[in-house]
Amino acid sequence: MRLQYAPEDERFRAELVEWLEANAPRDEMQREPKLSSAHMPGWARDWQRKLFDHGWLVPGWPPELGGRNATPTQQMIYFEEMSRREILRSANPQGLGIIAPSIKDYGTPEQQERFLVPTLRADIAWCLGMSEPNAGSDLASLRTRAELVGDEFVVNGQKVWTSGAHHADWCLCFVRTDPSAPKHKGISVLLIDMRSPGIECRPFPELSHPEFRDFNEVFFNDVRVPRENLVGPLNGGWPISQGSLAHERAMLWITYAYDVQRAVAALAGLGDRPVPGGGRLGDDPRFRDALGAFYVDAQALLAMGYRGFSKFLHGKAAPEHSLLKLYGSEALQRVLLYGAEVLGADELDMDLLGPQMWREGSWAVQYLRSFGGTIPGGTSEIQRNIIAERVLGLPR
Ligand SMILES: Cc1cc2nc3c(=O)[nH]c(=O)nc-3n(C[C@H](O)[C@H](O)[C@H](O)COP(=O)(O)OP(=O)(O)OC[C@H]3O[C@@H](n4cnc5c(N)ncnc54)[C@H](O)[C@@H]3O)c2cc1C
Repeated sequence: MRLQYAPEDERFRAELVEWLEANAPRDEMQREPKLSSAHMPGWARDWQRKLFDHGWLVPGWPPELGGRNATPTQQMIYFEEMSRREILRSANPQGLGIIAPSIKDYGTPEQQERFLVPTLRADIAWCLGMSEPNAGSDLASLRTRAELVGDEFVVNGQKVWTSGAHHADWCLCFVRTDPSAPKHKGISVLLIDMRSPGIECRPFPELSHPEFRDFNEVFFNDVRVPRENLVGPLNGGWPISQGSLAHERAMLWITYAYDVQRAVAALAGLGDRPVPGGGRLGDDPRFRDALGAFYVDAQALLAMGYRGFSKFLHGKAAPEHSLLKLYGSEALQRVLLYGAEVLGADELDMDLLGPQMWREGSWAVQYLRSFGGTIPGGTSEIQRNIIAERVLGLPR
């Protein structure tokens, strides 16, 4: 699907494409792989800085913050071209995609001065301390306690699933500062130096990342945090959590749509395979039907995304966000599962998704990783709840 844009928007696209063709990294990932979502190999830092220096890191932001004041339509074109080429902007996606915008929206001028440009220029890497053993979907139940003692908060508690914590320099951490208030009202947000005494990160292995440990349990034991590291008002952290997650979700649908398209193309490539009993896989009507259905999924995702975007441009509410997150992450999972079934147990380790710059791994590994899309930022069940209550107006 390719829409027509205004001439100035197409000029923006042409300039971006020309720059990406000349500058995007190609072989570096193979030479020095990433070890977690906060581990930034030298080439990844160089790439992010280059994007920043040329105004291509966050095009909608002003030039001093790595942008070029691009219009919303141009920002969408940017994500189209980046997703089409499978180029990520940062080796520390939570730092760039969630934490920098949160500091920009809610941080004090001093916090912005201290953290924004170093984050954007990949001088520092971040982790996001939200989830706890008994507070995931129900984030407001978090119990990690921060007590204000003089000019410092003293933090005690535990986070879990904290991506990249063992490689991160800083953590945007959600803590309970008023245990007596209703649970949404007693939460604050702190910027915590991950090298502070009393922090222990315990990375744990994942089935889908045998070579790469991203998840951590993080323990805080009397960790002292200066009061000036409080983001937003004391006990006013809940709206920040919602704003942070909205940043994460905004343009994800484009990435899903292109990922599904890539997987469909890889699946179509299996069509010439001989099947037991003679003939080709591509002659099997069930295979052709499945391929058609997955292709339609990708196109429907794009159409729904563009419709939501157009409503947003016209100042209308766009409930498509939850639909897109749910539909995109599950469509990708469906096509990857089908590919795994078609290949059968003997060939699950085959790398069928082609040469990719930022992702590696067999079809089976990609399928396992697709669960990573249906859980964070609100699980599929939570998205269904939101759609039922806020879009369809059904009772709780
Ligand atoms: C790839 C990945 C990266 C992550 N990175 C981070 C990170 O960097 N920092 C961080 O803080 N967290 C991170 N997380 C954690 C993530 O935010 C949580 O896993 C998520 O919020 C779900 O919480 P939970 O795992 O505690 O599951 P739970 O909330 O316990 O849910 C368990 C099951 O119950 C269902 N469920 C829960 N509540 C309801 C309900 N009301 N209605 C219907 N069903 C419900 C859920 O859908 C799920 O199937 C990451 C997770 C993944 C998969």
